[in-house]
Amino acid sequence: MSISPTLRCPCKGQFLTAAFQYTEPPEGETRFDWGEQLYRRGYDRCTLCGHWFGHHDLDLSRLYAGDYVEKTYGGVEGMRRRFAKIMALPYEQSDNRQRVARVRAFAHSRGIDERQQPRLLDVGAGLGVFPAVMAENGWQVMALEQDVRTVEYLQSVVAIDALAQDLLNIKPAVVGLFDVVTFNKVLEHVEDPAALLIAARRLLTPNGFVYVEVPDVAAAVDGPDREEFFVEHHHVFNLISLAMLIDRTNYTIFQLGNLLEPSGKFTVYTFSICEGLY
Ligand SMILES: [Zn+2]
Repeated sequence: MSISPTLRCPCKGQFLTAAFQYTEPPEGETRFDWGEQLYRRGYDRCTLCGHWFGHHDLDLSRLYAGDYVEKTYGGVEGMRRRFAKIMALPYEQSDNRQRVARVRAFAHSRGIDERQQPRLLDVGAGLGVFPAVMAENGWQVMALEQDVRTVEYLQSVVAIDALAQDLLNIKPAVVGLFDVVTFNKVLEHVEDPAALLIAARRLLTPNGFVYVEVPDVAAAVDGPDREEFFVEHHHVFNLISLAMLIDRTNYTIFQLGNLLEPSGKFTVYTFSICEGLY
């Protein structure tokens, strides 16, 4: 098996050049059990749009199902402790609370009224800090996670609606429509991020929008050990490549920006809407 992430960028592979290469996990990367597999991976950089494409022959298929929660968080008990710790962070130190502020401000600018309990779908919710804080602000939240134990944790510990389903298979007739669909550090984990953005369109209200947040390749200034380049990331974006992806999936970008988050993460984000497709 060989991973070939696609962004369908205009370079079509003609302008790729080798970037970081790894023969062992960088410091700080979760030590997954790769069995007999040789740890060999790397990134190619597009010299046209600046996007980085991960490539390797490692089998990631079972990563999110079993090992991931155990190795990344120390199981459900570890998730509960991490959740409590991150929820307690003050605004100045909290990536999540600052994200909540961005999303609420944009929703407000779109005329979405929090007194009407608008609906949020958070794809790949993880620990669930972001949807939890949105719920505190009056939003009806639904979280998607493919891992069944994470879904149980989101329901019981975070106390939000959560489904163990793939966004690609979700039907609006079953889950309804959402004012906001969020992808917080999710699209870099999939080989075809365009497919997820296209799937999200079916679930938006006419006034709805999509918020996307991904790691920014600007982190490369600090070298190859940064978490932006960990094995789970098939893509590392920049302002241009994220804008191209959004444009290609028929959204209109309303806001595009990058930031250095309180945790030290380099991040690119967009707010986008879908016009005229209803
Ligand atoms: Zn390119």
